[in-house]
Amino acid sequence: MKKSKILIVDDIFSNQLLLISIIENTGSDYRVASNGKKALEMLESEDFDLILMDIEMPVMNGIETTTFIRKKFSEPKKSIPIIALTAHNKFEFFDNIIAAGFTEFLSKPYTIIQFNALIQKYIHK
Ligand SMILES: [Mg+2]
Repeated sequence: MKKSKILIVDDIFSNQLLLISIIENTGSDYRVASNGKKALEMLESEDFDLILMDIEMPVMNGIETTTFIRKKFSEPKKSIPIIALTAHNKFEFFDNIIAAGFTEFLSKPYTIIQFNALIQKYIHK
């Protein structure tokens, strides 16, 4: 099975560490960006199978970043699965998440079972 590569986009270091530990357990490769602008730079030069995108970030938030990818990138990067990572109140941003073009969203606390399911669904299909 091809090793998948996941882009983690989150501004909080402890969230990054948690996501890294979960992703490592799924056997996937990963890269980490601390805001949307850095994520766009990485996506321009590298290929990813899946993006895990925090919503609230400095410089460029998850809604802006996902909107940019869906509107400005060309295929296949334009259509990469992007999962919104939301905090407690996921409905606060619900309309914006849908409008931005996120593939689906995941609310905390995350589990390795959820990530394995995402990888099965979007990468090893
Ligand atoms: Mg954040």
